[in-house]
Amino acid sequence: MSSTGNTVSSTGNTGGQVLILLGPPGAGKGTQALRLAAECEIPHISTGDLFRHNLKEGTELGKKAKGFMEGGGLVPDELVLDMLFDRVAADDCRGGYLLDGFPRTLPQAKALTKALENQNSKTLLLEVPESVLVGRAGGRLLCKGCTNIHHAEFSPPQKPGICDSCQGELYRRKDDEPEVVKERLKVYRKETQPMVDYYRETGSLEVINGDQAPDVVFSALKEALVGGGC
Ligand code: AMP
Repeated sequence: MSSTGNTVSSTGNTGGQVLILLGPPGAGKGTQALRLAAECEIPHISTGDLFRHNLKEGTELGKKAKGFMEGGGLVPDELVLDMLFDRVAADDCRGGYLLDGFPRTLPQAKALTKALENQNSKTLLLEVPESVLVGRAGGRLLCKGCTNIHHAEFSPPQKPGICDSCQGELYRRKDDEPEVVKERLKVYRKETQPMVDYYRETGSLEVINGDQAPDVVFSALKEALVGGGC
């Protein structure tokens, strides 16, 4: 199922729960999303990963997204919505899925709310003070072989530069350079914060303190899901 602008009609989901994980850059969304998706046995859908894949493959979408991503800005809504709704219409999302990095703007959130009408969903926000965020994003190391995330300080790999999970090569994202992180935080305040307020106003937002040890944050996230389960 595809969409243009806000005319999204279906997510392809027919049953399971859709988890929506929100939070500023460096809040630990990626790490927690991977764990939570594995725990709940649902696909982890990261729009950032989808764009990086398109970039690597040199697709038209990747070429369009490149400049926005490298400068720390957001990719225009219509490109994000088409890509996301195509992805979640796939068969593996029929039993639910976890969204990481989407939505990020008010129009994206409204399109998602409309698409998820009559479906079970839960929105979780990882809250971390801004002073902590720059350092966190700066130390992040991604794997070229899988989607695993290490951190130079908080979860260093056993062998420097090598992923513990798949032995792939670790790299630092271009947009994790301090200047770009500052821009991403600025964009978050301007574009994403009003969207977080929209979720807050609906009364359905679960706020989790993300400024704690990763295991503590993970337990809090699980706790926020009904009955501590998925
Ligand atoms: P992430 O890996 O989630 O930090 O995303 C990396 C980059 O991809 C972002 O800084 C944006 O440029 C772009 N991106 C990912 N998700 C979205 C989204 N939902 N809306 C707009 N741009 C996005």
